[in-house]
Amino acid sequence: MAIKFEADAKKWLTMGYRPLEIEREIRDFWEKNRIADKLMKLRERENVGVLGYVEGPPTLNGMPHIGHARGRIMKDLRYRWKSMQGYYIPFWAGWDCQGLPVELEVERMLGVKNKRELLERVGEERFVEECKKTIMRYYKHWREADRKLGLFMNYDREYWTYLDSYIEREWKYLKRAWEQGLLGEGYYVVAYCPGCQTSLSNAEVGLGYEEVEDPSLYFKFKVEGKENEHFLIWTTMPFTIVTDLMIAVHPSAEYAKVKVGEEFWIMARQRVEPLMQELKIEDYSIAETFLGKELEGLKYEYPFKDLIPKQAELDRLPNVHRVVCEDFVDVNTATGVVHLSPGNGEEDFEAAVKRNVPIYVPFDDECNFTEEAGKFSGLFARDADKKVIEELRKRGLLVHVEKVRHEYPTCWRSHHKLIWLARREYFLWTNKINEKIVEAAEKVEYFYEGPKNRFLAFLKEAKPWCISRERVWGTPLPVWVCEKCGHKILVSSKKEILDKALPDPATGEKPKLPELHKPWIDRIYFKCEKCGGRMRREPYVLDTWHNSGASPYARFTDEEFEKFVPVDFLVEAIDQTRGWANTLLLEHVILTGKPEAPYKAFLFYGFALDAKGRKMSKSLGNVIEVNPLLEKNSADLCRFYILWKCSPIDSMNFDIEEAKRRPYQVLSTLYHLHRFFYQNAEYDGFDPKKHSLEWAEHNNLLKAPERWLLSKLQGTIEEVNRRFEACEFNFAVSALEKFIVDNVSREYVPMIRRELWTDDPQTLNRRLAIYATLWHVLKTSLLLFNPVTPFITEFLYQQVFRAFDNSLPESINFEKWPIPEERFKDHQLEEEFELLMKAISVSYAARQAGRLKRRWPLRKAVVIVPKKAVESLEKFRGLFLELANVKEVEFVEKAPENLPTENWVSAAEEEIQVLLDTRRDKMLMGEGLMRDLARRIQALRKELGFVPTEILNEAHVARLGSEKVDLLNPFLEEMAELVRVKKVYIHPDKPEMEALKWHQYELDGEKILIAIT
Ligand SMILES: [Zn+2]
Ligand SMILES: [Zn+2]
Repeated sequence: MAIKFEADAKKWLTMGYRPLEIEREIRDFWEKNRIADKLMKLRERENVGVLGYVEGPPTLNGMPHIGHARGRIMKDLRYRWKSMQGYYIPFWAGWDCQGLPVELEVERMLGVKNKRELLERVGEERFVEECKKTIMRYYKHWREADRKLGLFMNYDREYWTYLDSYIEREWKYLKRAWEQGLLGEGYYVVAYCPGCQTSLSNAEVGLGYEEVEDPSLYFKFKVEGKENEHFLIWTTMPFTIVTDLMIAVHPSAEYAKVKVGEEFWIMARQRVEPLMQELKIEDYSIAETFLGKELEGLKYEYPFKDLIPKQAELDRLPNVHRVVCEDFVDVNTATGVVHLSPGNGEEDFEAAVKRNVPIYVPFDDECNFTEEAGKFSGLFARDADKKVIEELRKRGLLVHVEKVRHEYPTCWRSHHKLIWLARREYFLWTNKINEKIVEAAEKVEYFYEGPKNRFLAFLKEAKPWCISRERVWGTPLPVWVCEKCGHKILVSSKKEILDKALPDPATGEKPKLPELHKPWIDRIYFKCEKCGGRMRREPYVLDTWHNSGASPYARFTDEEFEKFVPVDFLVEAIDQTRGWANTLLLEHVILTGKPEAPYKAFLFYGFALDAKGRKMSKSLGNVIEVNPLLEKNSADLCRFYILWKCSPIDSMNFDIEEAKRRPYQVLSTLYHLHRFFYQNAEYDGFDPKKHSLEWAEHNNLLKAPERWLLSKLQGTIEEVNRRFEACEFNFAVSALEKFIVDNVSREYVPMIRRELWTDDPQTLNRRLAIYATLWHVLKTSLLLFNPVTPFITEFLYQQVFRAFDNSLPESINFEKWPIPEERFKDHQLEEEFELLMKAISVSYAARQAGRLKRRWPLRKAVVIVPKKAVESLEKFRGLFLELANVKEVEFVEKAPENLPTENWVSAAEEEIQVLLDTRRDKMLMGEGLMRDLARRIQALRKELGFVPTEILNEAHVARLGSEKVDLLNPFLEEMAELVRVKKVYIHPDKPEMEALKWHQYELDGEKILIAIT
């Protein structure tokens, strides 16, 4: 199949590396020829196995930024790499469309402040429409970002979490939970956002810690029946004293009774000194010490019985307003005595349930105190702090109060301080199956210990999952409850709902259900099968994390689910341990009843920070969005940089300026090596079908440098593959960097460059063998680079490899992933070359010490090394002379005794010492001068856009002075050959030659002129 490549096929040979142009061209090429689509179909048809995949759906409520890009690059890398290995992966996109994030984005757009205003002013129907419009608006930006990044994701089969078909399958999870008794209503302490007016899951709480200001309050509760004895207690939430029912101490910790003035205060022994210092009390003494358990059962005087009649009533119950012992009490902070409000705290709640203490929760939906709170009724919880402090002061119970800034959980969306409230909610009782969940999680591969431990520790907390939300834009909870007898049923399909639906009393017709969302679904009533009463839907929607967590089942058909789940590999940001990774796991264990995760491997990657290491945020204005970034910068460069910069689990400081240095140099080197190869190979009539590596081997044309390079290549293939498998992308990319920049460009090319300059037919076969080697090495390198930088690799594959051989596959992505070939491995040769390179590098150090340019040929080098190194260096004498640029070399064990120290410079490293003779006669100086000039002429050729292999007519060098002209005269022919011109002319002054266009250069501090035609 012929490919139409728009650009002039040869144009790139005269250009520098221009990634933005290349990427535009390659995007067009991929799209016009439907390469991504063809790749997926090819692997679906022919594969070595199937690797399931489900996309972690991005929430369509904001712009894709660099943090998102980091994950998407890793996904694409994995996909391309495994596809090249021959696997079929359903790399299908998916979008997270519902939930609080989208609702709040729409609220912001509509300019409403809270849920009540939203419902009154906008109404649910219009609100739902606005939510859909919002996700479609963001969808466009996400698609554009994916396109710019070069993702080979498939969008024909993308999934949307708000569609009926998806929701119906999501409900199947609930049905399974319902059948197993894992779904139900419960009274429990949940984190509640007063702003969003809904509860949050534990996972969501973990997303939103912020530094906030609170009162830091020390107060006293009087021990009943004792005149001057008090418990000293600390809190940052004074309003919870309204709902206080117990105080707790640690049973085995030491407590002290401290005499302060006329009073005795009870607190943890180890906290006495620090607290007295903090409270600036100098005059105190410890009267008595004892264990916490000795305090158990002690009654204290609850101070607000007069303000809150309900508290006076509760006070008469056993265990209320008494000291209890609990292991969770921390005696390392505050006073080691904590007060418990079962209506406002999880541990408090559990402590109360254990002791049959009732739960007292006098709050309405907006977190205002109700009538039950007596004199506090009508106050917003956090606004009651002040009144509580004031009442304590009046009663002489206030010890100290000040403001404190501390980390406190806030709503991850609206940033309100969360309040813990015991509420009636719907729960998935995942705590009942926690053993299975942990067992499932332990079987997963996480690649790095840190995130694995964090994830397992989080799962072991075994908290039930609160899944009900009092919001609008989400999957409705499909539970209907009888208004008369309280009977409940769960349905799990649209058909079931419509079959059961009571006719509309006004029209007598079956109600319509245009989609499975509020408000329409709330207009459907059933008839109770128990009592004949009317059943209404429970008004909740589901936690949006349940929605996205349902994707492994909801996004596939039954058949696909069988085939693709558990999926092979997922990668998402580190915060998804509490998010998607968690909900996927919980739901899958509920669905299957098996201790099995829906993923075999999960890589968590770190956050993206700005160049200075600061978190990216709207308020700092340092968020880097993908689309504007890639408008101006290369996608290949960003992909390479992000993978290269650090380990995937580390936080990454993203600095585009840093990307423009070393990463750019690597890609530019890759580009120029291909240009160098193509120009030379084409000039010599290289034909890859004829001049294969086998042909070169058969004709004995491969020398040590080729055999060394081929051996190095095998090690690089092995390492890249091993590092990819271990998700150590940074090390994989470093191995590629080292191979291309060091081994190929800096080491191999100088070894063969001179062989390629000649066009002597006698040595043609040798040159063709070099091309055969470069063909193999560069093509293999491109394949290895392809998952990392897919644009430049496709470009070079088309421009170089398919230009030589159009029977190659249409796209580099259809090629096979390289596997190392044993026959090319030569460990001994690699060691010998390493020694050779070291010796040459020490010779450069010696030159530097003597201020001798590398281009200046020198008379002699003496290399002093251990005995067995002498033997191996001897084998590569010619290469040493060439690379070190000396006329003669001696490899010896010991420095020659008669060596004069004058006129010699030396350098040493480890066991290698190199001595250089610094004396340069006229011939050596002439040759050095010639090379200096040749280098400048070559630079000029490049600048003027001449193809390097083209032979030009004349080169002129002027204003050299007669001395330099004399030195140069013997080398004119060699110079003409080096710079590929027919004849070189040198002039002491500037000649009168009007036709020439002169270019000025500096040589040893003097201005000279060069012209080429
Ligand atoms: Zn909120
Ligand atoms: Zn009923």
